[in-house]
Amino acid sequence: MLDKKNFYINGKWVKPSKANDFEVINPSNEEPYARISLGFEEDTNEAIKAAKKAFNKWKETTKEERITLLEKLLKIYKKRFEEMSTTISMEMGAPIDWSSSAQAASGQSHLEDFILRLKDFNFENYFDIKSNNHIFYEPIGVCGLITPWNWPINQIALKVVPALATGCTMILKPSEIAPMSGILFSEMIDEVGFPSGVFNLINGDGKGVGTQLSSHPDVDMISFTGSTRAGRLISKNAAETIKRVCLELGGKGGNIVFADSYKNAVRDGIRNVMSNSGQSCDAPTRMLVEKSIYQRAVNEAIDEANKIKVDQASKKGDHIGPVISKVQYDKIIDLIKSGIAEGATLAAGGPELPKGLNKGYFIRPTIFTDVKNNMRIAKEEIFGPVLSIIPFETEDEAVNIVNDTSYGLGNYLQTEDKEKAHRVAKKLRSGCVYINGNSADAGTPFGGYQQSGNGREGGIWGLEEFLEVKTITGWK
Ligand code: NAD
Repeated sequence: MLDKKNFYINGKWVKPSKANDFEVINPSNEEPYARISLGFEEDTNEAIKAAKKAFNKWKETTKEERITLLEKLLKIYKKRFEEMSTTISMEMGAPIDWSSSAQAASGQSHLEDFILRLKDFNFENYFDIKSNNHIFYEPIGVCGLITPWNWPINQIALKVVPALATGCTMILKPSEIAPMSGILFSEMIDEVGFPSGVFNLINGDGKGVGTQLSSHPDVDMISFTGSTRAGRLISKNAAETIKRVCLELGGKGGNIVFADSYKNAVRDGIRNVMSNSGQSCDAPTRMLVEKSIYQRAVNEAIDEANKIKVDQASKKGDHIGPVISKVQYDKIIDLIKSGIAEGATLAAGGPELPKGLNKGYFIRPTIFTDVKNNMRIAKEEIFGPVLSIIPFETEDEAVNIVNDTSYGLGNYLQTEDKEKAHRVAKKLRSGCVYINGNSADAGTPFGGYQQSGNGREGGIWGLEEFLEVKTITGWK
């Protein structure tokens, strides 16, 4: 069993204050394959102390000094890329090819993009060329970075890299369920040789280290990605110290398929929702189909879902893997059963294990048709390979159904009518709208409306999250 119990504090790998072992489970076979330690308050306090001490010097570094260190980190990331792919595949069940091309690749692409943005970013600007007022951007201070398991290195890179880039110091707490990619990333940071205390890693759970970071008076900001449930608790715990809290939370994306959509729109929508075994915050989990093409769309959706293979994460190929854990597995199966009980039509998949897989948290790609937007499967974030198909008649009805949710992260629409696409995209209440299968470029902001959160990650918006803005007058 892989032993990774040490924490990274003040530039060194150190033993936890007390033993508190936690086994990391491989979701493909339900067996533990690594052991970490969950931190106690003493460990969190040590890490915060180190970050606070390091801030005074680190904030004075020049942009060029930080770019040099980040470029070194990028080189090391590229060198250990395969290790990152296999680590993510083991810890959260992403099939190895997908783990490499999407999961591990996301870490590299954020590093590359933030280096570019940092090169162009001005930390000092005239307010107005005729004025003697100057606007400065300064690092916010000590940051607590709390990340989930579903896109582990994507989320870590979206926080650690801009925090480093802007001159902040930090304590990273990755998800305890998939902590290995965070440990590997910390090894890379160690290899770069950032000044001691700038970056610290404490493994732990939400109740322990997560809460300690959120409520600590010496933590100036929490950047959190995870469930809306935990986002709410973090906000409450952070309120006493008025720290900045940036939240990237859950979603329940709608995908409007108009009758004039491109030929493969339905099939692409199915692939999109099932990829990563449905464990993406912006997955298009509600497909709204115009009534005139409803039956054709349903037939295509069923055919496509039945083509998707489910298998072990270690195997090469374009199959989907297991879901992360027994807790998630049970939750998804419960929601599938609720869909059946509430009267939706189970058109593909279902609660039984996929053929030939008797161990591991595997779920069949599942499609419900004739779904009503007030059913649990249309309202709650399922976070598994499950799609709800809902018919609509008019454009306004489709927009109303998509917007009738407490979330607002990513929505999708498919039509060949450019004017309609622009009109509808503006009406959808979400941080991102994807038209006709186009994906977002690196460096565009990512985040949500309503209960999907209040932050924006990526690009210059991702840098600005970690900065204070200061006005100085009389600057000549
Ligand atoms: P989770 O909320 O259970 O855990 C996320 C992280 O928060 C973990 O590190 C966990 O230990 C920690 N945590 C849990 N409770 C906490 C508390 N009370 N205080 C402090 N920290 C706490 O979420 P998860 O199951 O790991 O991830 C899945 C969720 O993340 C989904 O809801 C998904 O939509 C969301 N997500 C959102 C985005 C986005 O950018 N909006 C991206 C990826 C995932």
